[in-house]
Amino acid sequence: MTQETGGFAALDLNPNIVAAVLATGYEEPSAIQQQSIPIILAGHDMIGQAQTGTGKTAAFALPILNKIDVSKREPQALILAPTRELALQVATAFETYAKQMPGVNVVAVYGGAPMGPQLRAIRNGAQIVVATPGRLCDHLRRDEKVLSTVQYLVLDEADEMLKLGFMDDLEVIFDAIPASRQTVLFSATLPSSIRSIAERHLREPKHVKIQSKTQTVTAIDQAHLMVHADQKIPAVLRLLEVEEFDALIAFVRTKQATLDLAAALEAKGYKAAALNGDIAQNQRERVIDSLKDGRLDIVVATDVAARGLDVPRITHVFNVDMPYDPESYVHRIGRTGRAGRDGRALLLVTPRERRMLQVIERVTGQKVAEARLPNAQAVLDARIKKLTNSLAPLVAEAEATHGELFDRLTADLGCSARALASALLRKATNGQALDLAAVEREQPLVPSFAPRGERTERGERSDRGDRGDRERRAPLPLAEGRVRCRTALGARDGIAAKNLLGAILNEGGLARDAIGRIQVRDSFSLIELPEDGLEKLLSKLKDTRVAGKQLKLRRYRED
Ligand code: ADP
Ligand code: MG
Repeated sequence: MTQETGGFAALDLNPNIVAAVLATGYEEPSAIQQQSIPIILAGHDMIGQAQTGTGKTAAFALPILNKIDVSKREPQALILAPTRELALQVATAFETYAKQMPGVNVVAVYGGAPMGPQLRAIRNGAQIVVATPGRLCDHLRRDEKVLSTVQYLVLDEADEMLKLGFMDDLEVIFDAIPASRQTVLFSATLPSSIRSIAERHLREPKHVKIQSKTQTVTAIDQAHLMVHADQKIPAVLRLLEVEEFDALIAFVRTKQATLDLAAALEAKGYKAAALNGDIAQNQRERVIDSLKDGRLDIVVATDVAARGLDVPRITHVFNVDMPYDPESYVHRIGRTGRAGRDGRALLLVTPRERRMLQVIERVTGQKVAEARLPNAQAVLDARIKKLTNSLAPLVAEAEATHGELFDRLTADLGCSARALASALLRKATNGQALDLAAVEREQPLVPSFAPRGERTERGERSDRGDRGDRERRAPLPLAEGRVRCRTALGARDGIAAKNLLGAILNEGGLARDAIGRIQVRDSFSLIELPEDGLEKLLSKLKDTRVAGKQLKLRRYRED
């Protein structure tokens, strides 16, 4: 996109279109726009292949706007998109680019909304129809002539439409549009099914292919972390403590996983929501709008639900579950780094998934560096930094409004300024752990396991797959003043951490925060307890039973 290309002004587009595009803040056409617009303007059929985020919408929308006859109030251009969200996005883009072209009408046609108003809007003079194939076919069944005036047909995200099973609908639609039409097909990939559609329905198409891999990926800082499958949620929570994100999208594989992770995030106070195929259309739109305007910061989505989602605020993509193939990895991380912004993409990898990581690296031609989970110190530093940042604007001016109150309170309470400030801090931080021992205690510190072939502190190989690996994991570092105790009761005895916690709280008479991490393994469990008073505690617990079995807690010495 250099100066000598002459920018949008050199593209032979109607000045009103160029003005509207420049007004939206685009400076230069993207590569796919630069190459496609002249071809479409010249009336050729075309196949455009480019990754997500390369600006395909304007690549077809601008020349089509240029071609339609505003004085004719009948459908002239039909754009097919795979989902309702994408159809709405494309329709909105058309409206934006047509802002300075009075008389242009765009209608979006999709399932889940009443058919009557859509059909009326088409008949009442919309020149541009943006539709999902399924709903459009419903309209065709009611009125087979509804597309008889269409001269320009665009298939947007054609590969995705086929994946969603719209092949038969597409055939019906092709047949309902005059053969003299111009047809343009955009797709991120060109599998044989798409090539065969192109052979049958496009006339001597010109090909435009943008090698956007490096373009899509280089603005994005990528890293992976090794975690155990059952540690993903704690790992995400820990990462979020230190990542400075604006908006974030987390990808998981199942609907249930969207709900589980979104719930865990909400419980921690994040503004998070799930996005999956079960969520009603209008609700999905609300979620996306909320992410756009900051009412939400995190969306946990499946690939299908997030398809085409375009929210410029997104700075981070978390691949919590592995994508199914390298291409969806590229698609996913393309949700960030939009329009040249910097983005960050993290990929959680479980032991079994190492191979997939290698495939991704091979296909993208890039190494995805390994990162480690932040330790308690890093979490603490991040929390203190956030607290400091939140106080900085206040210290500049709160003394004027609250200084006198402070003096009065220290006098009334008869305490030092430090004592009162500490009390206020505790209140303001709402019980958040803000010293190292407390941070270490509050959530199990999930260590990344050692990379392939590296040896753990205990000299065992760490790449034995999930289960073996877990049993052999290197011991977790102990907080100061804590010792580890062991019981022979474990998961196979039907024990969960909360049972052990309950028993020790009730019968040992300890405070909750005196008890550290509890790790339940298959055939035993480890519990961190204060060294101080340990003998007394163990004797108190001598006859304690959990799940009907004797606890028999003993001090446990590793090494
Ligand atoms: P694609 O369909 O290839 O995934 P979009 O058409 O959705 O990409 O565009 C991705 C983002 O880039 C959108 O936010 C869009 O507004 C923006 N964009 C498109 N063309 C340009 C341009 N020439 N300059 C700046 N931003 C652009
Ligand atoms: Mg698109």
